[in-house]
Amino acid sequence: MADTDFDVLIIGGGPGGYVAAIRAAQLGLKTAVVEKADLGGICLNWGCIPTKALLRSSELFHTMENAGSYGLSAKGVGFDLAKVVERSRAVSGRLTRGVGHLMKKNKVTVIDGEGKLAGPGKVAVTGKGKGDYAARHIILATGARPRVLPGLEPDKKLIWTYFEAMVPEKMPKSLIIVGSGAIGIEFASFYRAFGVEVTVVEMLPQILPVEDEEIAGLARKQFEKQGIRIITSATVKSVDKVKNGLTATVEEAKGKTQQIAAERMISAVGVVGNVEDVGLEALGVKTANGVVVADGFGRTNVAGVYAIGDVAGPPLLAHKASHEGVVCVEKIAGLADVHPVDKLKIPGCTYCRPQIASVGLTEKRAREQGHQVKVGRFPFLANGKAIALGEDQGLVKTIFDAATGQLLGAHMVGAEVTELIQGFVVAMNLETTEQELMHAIFPHPTLSEMMHESVLDAYGRVIHM
Ligand SMILES: Cc1cc2nc3c(=O)[nH]c(=O)nc-3n(C[C@H](O)[C@H](O)[C@H](O)COP(=O)(O)OP(=O)(O)OC[C@H]3O[C@@H](n4cnc5c(N)ncnc54)[C@H](O)[C@@H]3O)c2cc1C
Repeated sequence: MADTDFDVLIIGGGPGGYVAAIRAAQLGLKTAVVEKADLGGICLNWGCIPTKALLRSSELFHTMENAGSYGLSAKGVGFDLAKVVERSRAVSGRLTRGVGHLMKKNKVTVIDGEGKLAGPGKVAVTGKGKGDYAARHIILATGARPRVLPGLEPDKKLIWTYFEAMVPEKMPKSLIIVGSGAIGIEFASFYRAFGVEVTVVEMLPQILPVEDEEIAGLARKQFEKQGIRIITSATVKSVDKVKNGLTATVEEAKGKTQQIAAERMISAVGVVGNVEDVGLEALGVKTANGVVVADGFGRTNVAGVYAIGDVAGPPLLAHKASHEGVVCVEKIAGLADVHPVDKLKIPGCTYCRPQIASVGLTEKRAREQGHQVKVGRFPFLANGKAIALGEDQGLVKTIFDAATGQLLGAHMVGAEVTELIQGFVVAMNLETTEQELMHAIFPHPTLSEMMHESVLDAYGRVIHM
């Protein structure tokens, strides 16, 4: 007879759910995860990982096409889209299987099926693992799905969501991407690198709307140089479908309307939480703006019910989901000194070319919050390693509170910045001030030296500029 009684039962096996399960098991809690599709969730199957595999192919293709600038020759450079996609799926499959092994290793019970709250401490599962389960603590980690705008309903053929965009059968000649958040911009980079005519339509005045204005502006210039057409302060009013393509009517804030024809469209206008059909209403679990309302420990308004990850609201990032999972089960286990998740210290990365990475307050937000700021900047143009790599476009920007020297935010655009940002994340977590950062020794030659120089610049001490 299968086990049906647990200390912790988690609905959803994405990076929120499976990481929470491992940590719960480490803490000696009898744990189960209910998953209706594949372990690893969107992140491993349809998000972070497969997109990075696709982007690796497009980056290499770009580098090979530019072999001449490195004194190399690469003749007949081409690509096989089916193989590019196959590799991405294989990378995803490998990691998903890995999560299965981790569940076994940690003695977490995996229940195949769809879970629903069925009363206090109760979860009903339909599907292969059908049954009634009990748990003292139930964590909702059901994730999110693409937001659908009226008139832009994805049909999987002409209008894609990220699901179809990740497994194209044929490279379209032209593509309209609606929405310029991380997902939209990563697809813009991928498709443009393979020669697709890409138009990005963004409702707000700035692409990558959550990023620092200056950084987003520099990124935009680079994208436009690569031939990506960007229209901001604009909305897609309607779409007319034809046999193998569509025409979008795009209205700009200035009142100007234009028709843009393309073979395919990707709707990348955000995601909505999977809050339906999980039994929230029966228990009276509060939702707002399409997500479950939870505190810094994942606790909802109903005792014994928790929410983590995308279903608990932004930022919609895998590492945020995982961290929330860890904090949630540590609190459940009664560990001392568990800190609530501090959203300000969650880094965000976009793996386009050039990459974008940030943590903390943007310059605008810092000023809006009343900080007197000191801002440091250091361009890739002046960094030896960047020049040697052939990647001399980009900027590292740091923002400090002028009165206290507290690092308020760091923002970067350029090659490999997604690997650099963690230095500033650690610094912010340690409540580092400019003094410690200035005294730290950075290895030479590295891109990380720009982090140092940016801090020095904020205090009028920059060396290589
Ligand atoms: C194209 C794309 C690229 C992305 N790139 C990045 C990136 O580079 N970095 C980053 O940090 N984030 C990225 N994200 C976001 C990231 O994927 C999500 O933030 C992350 O997956 C959220 O984790 P989660 O555990 O909350 O939910 P999910 O990963 O969505 O997992 C939820 C799981 O719950 C299951 N489920 C739902 N309802 C039920 C139910 N009733 N019963 C049983 N199972 C259920 C689902 O099948 C799913 O497996 C990307 C997203 C997309 C779409």
